[in-house]
Amino acid sequence: MKTITNRQIFLNNVAQTSPAPLMLEIERAAGVILSGADGKEYIDLIAGISVSNLGHSHPEVVKAVQQQAEKYMHLMVYGEFVESPQVKYAQKLTSLLPEQLNNVYFTNSGAEATEGALKLAKRATGRTQLISFKNGYHGSTQGALSMMGSETFKRSFRPLLPDTMQLTYGNEAELNNITNRTAAVIIETIQAESGITVPSESFMRQLRNICNETGTLLILDEAQAGLGRTGKLFAFEHYGIVPDILLLAKALGGGMPLGAFIASKEIMNTLTENPVLGHITTFGGHPVCCAAGLAGFDVLMKERLVDGVEAKGKLFETLLNHPKIKSKSRIGLMMALEFESFEVNKKIIDRCIENGVLTDWFLFAPHCMRIAPPFIITEKEISLACGVIMGAIE
Ligand code: PMP
Repeated sequence: MKTITNRQIFLNNVAQTSPAPLMLEIERAAGVILSGADGKEYIDLIAGISVSNLGHSHPEVVKAVQQQAEKYMHLMVYGEFVESPQVKYAQKLTSLLPEQLNNVYFTNSGAEATEGALKLAKRATGRTQLISFKNGYHGSTQGALSMMGSETFKRSFRPLLPDTMQLTYGNEAELNNITNRTAAVIIETIQAESGITVPSESFMRQLRNICNETGTLLILDEAQAGLGRTGKLFAFEHYGIVPDILLLAKALGGGMPLGAFIASKEIMNTLTENPVLGHITTFGGHPVCCAAGLAGFDVLMKERLVDGVEAKGKLFETLLNHPKIKSKSRIGLMMALEFESFEVNKKIIDRCIENGVLTDWFLFAPHCMRIAPPFIITEKEISLACGVIMGAIE
């Protein structure tokens, strides 16, 4: 009898939306190394898309998951019981954030954090218009999709949310479209899926000023850029501004699913009346995910891992030089290498994977290679990985 392989089942029975899935079958992952079912090892340069900042299966995170699972898992829907993993994590995060960001709503994902934040902004301001930016990504659900800055990805799903507008990221003149009928502006502090676009300080400050002048809430999406990836714990610290609502996700759960929208208690309280229960979730802030996230966050802080991020990013930038690299864009350990086309980039990525280095491309910049490894990657591993990338380019 012919045996059916996991790869065949994956293609037949697990829903696919990618026309070119990477199709690696990983048996174990520890630190920066993924080990394939065939015994092959890969240096992970993408960290599950900016999730595994401490590397995979960090022992402290694994222990926290095990211990919390033994105490209790799901008890009750969000916001009814006092669950200590949630309480402790909210306390830790708010103690390190500016004073006005003192109230955390935990969600299951980044998209849900976006959805909650958009609803909160409408409720808190009584306005309806929502502004976002071209090439921005905030999730794939319908509210988040309405904010996405790509007509290609939105067209087939219309009608989406009404009263939305997308401005050009980095263009100060266009910020004049923000008026006293705008509920919120949502923006990635560092735009990731466009191939790492770092805005100027002047643009970000102007954005903050116009939001202040018009009473518009500023939502900074740091699902990818937050929690140390840019070399600062929160990316907005590079700009000397503070958002009204901060979105965190991805690395927040230490490898478990967890997101959050964070605001002042005053703003957040508007979700408790007219009607009550303005945002509800069964599993948001799951105790095992919060315990894992908190354990990971404690390691990040205790081992001062964020301090090493910029130097490691710089080392990648120094080691990756070739006439075929048309440009490099980087902040901390978020980096994009631009090639001539997707075809060229894909060939190089495939060759890297063959030679044991995992990387990929960006949603809105398929001609750019993504480099966003776990923060614990060593200088030796960086040299090794860059050697493989340079070899693949040749
Ligand atoms: N915001 C940003 C900036 C993201 O990069 C992502 C995910 N790529 C999201 C939101 C959505 O997160 P999730 O996939 O957990 O819904």
